[in-house]
Amino acid sequence: SVQLSERINRLEESATILMAKKARELASQGVDVINLSLGEPDFTTPKHILEATKTALDGAYTFYTPVAGYLDLRQAVAAKLKNENGLDYAADQIVVSTGAKQSLTNAVMALVNPEEEVIIPTPYWVSYSEMVKLAEGESVFIPSSVESNFKITPAQLEAAITPKSKLFMFSSPCNPTGSVYTKEELAELVKVFEKHPQIYIISDEIYEHINFGAAHASIASFESVKDRVIIINGFSKGFAMTGWRLGYLAASKPIAAACDKLQSQITSATCSIAKRAALAALTSDMTPTYEMREAFRKRRDLVYNLIKDMKGLKVNLPEGAFYFFPDVSYFFGKSYEGKAINNSSDLSLLLLSEAHVSTVSGDSFGDPNSIRFSYATSEDKLIEAVRRISAFLEKVK
Ligand code: PLP
Repeated sequence: SVQLSERINRLEESATILMAKKARELASQGVDVINLSLGEPDFTTPKHILEATKTALDGAYTFYTPVAGYLDLRQAVAAKLKNENGLDYAADQIVVSTGAKQSLTNAVMALVNPEEEVIIPTPYWVSYSEMVKLAEGESVFIPSSVESNFKITPAQLEAAITPKSKLFMFSSPCNPTGSVYTKEELAELVKVFEKHPQIYIISDEIYEHINFGAAHASIASFESVKDRVIIINGFSKGFAMTGWRLGYLAASKPIAAACDKLQSQITSATCSIAKRAALAALTSDMTPTYEMREAFRKRRDLVYNLIKDMKGLKVNLPEGAFYFFPDVSYFFGKSYEGKAINNSSDLSLLLLSEAHVSTVSGDSFGDPNSIRFSYATSEDKLIEAVRRISAFLEKVK
């Protein structure tokens, strides 16, 4: 047999990508599947971004670029951080990468030594724990639940810290729960970090523009911790640019330089043409982004009203991103037409095979009581998906 590395053997396949694959397989057999498993806007990239890209194609943007991205793009990111977030970063503190996913991996690999601990509130985005494994660090999870609106308290954070703690990693707005930390809540967490200056903070803000709650607040806006914060952001969600593979990080100069060095040995820079598109996205009218946000808000309200009183589901009202993460533990130990439901994975697989709705089980987000489904699809499909889920759950005994 092939002797793969222990590193790769330890790694899990991405559950969200796996469920999307299963849904596509079923669809290719002619089954009418509603795919709610991937985190992807159903909108196409705004027209003015496409137009700017076409113009770039006629230019000289076909050569290797600086690893961290064109200077004008990094300046545009710095200007965005100043204008939208009130944050001061210079162009040499920005590294543009092949998606926020690479930005996150760069930061984890640049900071974490083997056996150092990375504190992650659960539920968390599936790849965080796997990135920590790649760096041979140890994930330390802080539980949260629907009862606390999936947010952690300062006391929980304090209790999770040990002499080995190196990094704290979270997203707000959060995938998978849609929870958004307010500035006041962040201030309370900052007080804990002030006592532990050895801990760095990855703040994944990729859903910044898909936020219906309190104004977006970045933990980097607290001067006492700013140098220890690595902001992660990108273009996939707010600009409907998932396929372009564009993300960035902003950090102190030594951390940005370390990420630049790492990336220079792995992928080099991301695609030159995609970066011209990113520049257009950052420097032009944000109306399409705001329109998409409003469409997501309408869909959220629609689905919330349909499921909030559904028997057996415990749901929070997500304030951002585009997911619901209902607690479905009521159904554990029951069965559907003789098929046992012992956990969220059983439920998610049965929803796909019997109700033809693809979701993702909560285990891979570190929460075995829930399932995640995305509402980044049309209202018609959402209504039909909820009808199918409801009809399915009614038969669970
Ligand atoms: N961070 C979170 C919380 C996400 O949900 C995602 C995508 O699903 C990413 C990062 C990665 O985004 P990108 O497409 O920019 O790699």
